[in-house]
Amino acid sequence: RTVYVNGEYVPENEAKISVFDRGFLMADGVYEVTSVLEGKLVDFDGHAKRLERSLKELDMAAPVTTDELLAIHRELIARNDLTEGGIYLQITRGAPADRDFAFPDPAETPSSLVLFTQQKNLANAPAANTGIKVISIEDIRWGRRDIKTVQLLYPSMGKMMAKKAGADDAWMVEDGQVTEGTSNNAYIVKGGKIITRQLSNDILHGITRAAVLRLAKEAQMEVEERGFTIEEAQDADEAFVTSATTFVQPVVQIDDATIGTGTPGPIAKRLREIYIDESLKKAI
Ligand code: PLP
Repeated sequence: RTVYVNGEYVPENEAKISVFDRGFLMADGVYEVTSVLEGKLVDFDGHAKRLERSLKELDMAAPVTTDELLAIHRELIARNDLTEGGIYLQITRGAPADRDFAFPDPAETPSSLVLFTQQKNLANAPAANTGIKVISIEDIRWGRRDIKTVQLLYPSMGKMMAKKAGADDAWMVEDGQVTEGTSNNAYIVKGGKIITRQLSNDILHGITRAAVLRLAKEAQMEVEERGFTIEEAQDADEAFVTSATTFVQPVVQIDDATIGTGTPGPIAKRLREIYIDESLKKAI
């Protein structure tokens, strides 16, 4: 694989980042994952805008312009013959001369930019047909989940708790209500209505969430943005999650409760179809 590191395209085993990089020492960095279908980028603009916002919230400088970022994404797709999968992008606050809690002067310490590709079947992922099982866990993450930081230890632990329990993922719960999945936004469907938690600093503002809710409304489906409990979810007709690389993924079990018939529901299936259709049409 050819990866991108600070201005250079290099074979992955030659890519280097300083041990003093604050991404490595302090998880001081942000990221984005943009999916690729038929060699093209899905909703690049959405991801670029969220990246800009994450950087601003952390007072971090963008190392390149959005146009340059697009060019780098495309160059990596070409160099790696990427047809379907994702492009991971990470910006960290760079490597000051020494470890220090205070942010370094950006004029002296440029931020680091890393991108790499991941070839993967997205449109025909098996989980779309079977659905996934989730467990519920307490959400103990920090209070700025709207910023897409590389601080992913608790979501990783959640994924491991799910694996140990024989499930696929975990839904996190705070003050009795579901916030989101470890790496996706969470939804339920009841009486034809799509319910998902409202945007705030408590969840990541999913790019796929925004697209799916827009498409649902365009298809005359009813949408309600509010929190819900695990009990309400267990009693729902359907459940699903969304993220850039899984699109719309049905959830068929939450803890010990089977959702609906235990197979992907019609609304989740329809939203997945509509989302993939539109993504293919609009990819750049
Ligand atoms: N919520 C969390 C915690 C995530 O990590 C992600 C994606 O990685 C999402 C939601 C979904 O966001 P998006 O649709 O932009 O991929």
